[in-house]
Amino acid sequence: MPKTPVEPPGFPAEIPSPPSLRELHQVMVRCTRCDLSLSRTKVVPGAGAHDARLLFVGEAPGASEDRQGVPFVGASGRLLDAMLEGVGIDRERVFIANVVRCRPPENRNPRAAEIRACAGWLAEQIRLIGPALVATLGRFALQHFIPDARITQLQGQVQRIEYDGGTLALFPLFHPAAVLRSPDRRPEYEELFRRLAGTLKEMES
Ligand code: URA
Repeated sequence: MPKTPVEPPGFPAEIPSPPSLRELHQVMVRCTRCDLSLSRTKVVPGAGAHDARLLFVGEAPGASEDRQGVPFVGASGRLLDAMLEGVGIDRERVFIANVVRCRPPENRNPRAAEIRACAGWLAEQIRLIGPALVATLGRFALQHFIPDARITQLQGQVQRIEYDGGTLALFPLFHPAAVLRSPDRRPEYEELFRRLAGTLKEMES
């Protein structure tokens, strides 16, 4: 039985611009802007440092994330953790979000209308966190920022884009699930994370 959301459909009509992530997330967890709110267990707002220099954007929560309300805690999350550890980046020091904050049923791809309904949450998180670099994980995250972009052409190459009235540096990466499906990609993935860590260091110096 789908759970009935507490808020009426379409809440909030406008994404708020509060002064802190904590306040943003308090509203986000009540969101009913799309029908994914009918089937989700928990909203997955994102997790990590509120002043992170590196922000990861994935696709959408899976079953484990939906149960726990925390991003990247399943098999993809374990690979992401291993990649971060391998290049000495502390998961607690980055922020991890998704283009869609509620699990699509049966893990289907998120729909354009769902991504649109959710887009303002990500824009507010980026405004509040102010990361130096946004690493996109997979096609949906990359194409959220650069429609029609091909991940195989852009992975590992910093893309400077105009976003929300400013500029944003993107670092496109495969989604960890793609590497789990094709383990032969792992050495390349490790190399991309080394490049990511190097890029972040260069930006900080
Ligand atoms: N895959 C994603 O894209 N995001 C998550 O949070 C978990 C798995």
